[in-house]
Amino acid sequence: MDRDEQERRYLQRMQRRKRVVDEAVARADRQQGLLLVLTGSGKGKSTSAFGMAARALGHCMQVGVAQFIKGRSDTGEEAFFRRQPGVSWHVLGEGFTWETQDPRRDREVAQRGWEVARKMLGDSSFDLVILDELTYPLNYGWLSLQSVMDDLENRPPLQHVVITGRGAPRQLCELADTVTEMSDVRHAFRAGVGAQPGIDF
Ligand code: ATP
Ligand code: MG
Repeated sequence: MDRDEQERRYLQRMQRRKRVVDEAVARADRQQGLLLVLTGSGKGKSTSAFGMAARALGHCMQVGVAQFIKGRSDTGEEAFFRRQPGVSWHVLGEGFTWETQDPRRDREVAQRGWEVARKMLGDSSFDLVILDELTYPLNYGWLSLQSVMDDLENRPPLQHVVITGRGAPRQLCELADTVTEMSDVRHAFRAGVGAQPGIDF
């Protein structure tokens, strides 16, 4: 095949691809509040959610964040986003269960926390609500999955919600519009590297 023929075929292929992409973009013309679930055991769930918070703020949207498990109090995202106008940041959980070791207290904390999250889901001035690590209180049974799903379904129609955490319940994934599973191919922690500021917290 000579060079001209190669170029002609390349051009044809790109024109075909452009037609397919343009048609798909034209079909996706609905505007609606989305429910996103970021789950799986690989790294990147919370940081992806906070990336969307940054995007939303760039569009002058109002962002609410609820953190259901508080691993540590010195995260870069909390320090950064608490300084930004347009962000409401709530720490609603305590440490991981193996640190708190008090199931009754964990349940009370989670239920009080859900009341705060619920207020944001009932408030149409929030354009994006991030429910970080919500899967844990759900999977431990501290929160009722059905009532959480009811509150999600009854939220304002244009409000976006992002839920993060490992092991997202199947019903929650079925309710969601976009579901991403981060897979753990490798993590530096297992090679003995401690949590790094700016990367891990
Ligand atoms: P990140 O906040 O970095 O996006 P994540 O939200 O996907 O991570 P979590 O389960 O919430 O993951 O854990 C948060 C912390 O644990 C981060 O410091 C992260 O680097 C670390 N981490 C995440 N996945 C793994 C893993 N598979 N092995 C070891 N450490 C992990
Ligand atoms: Mg996380």
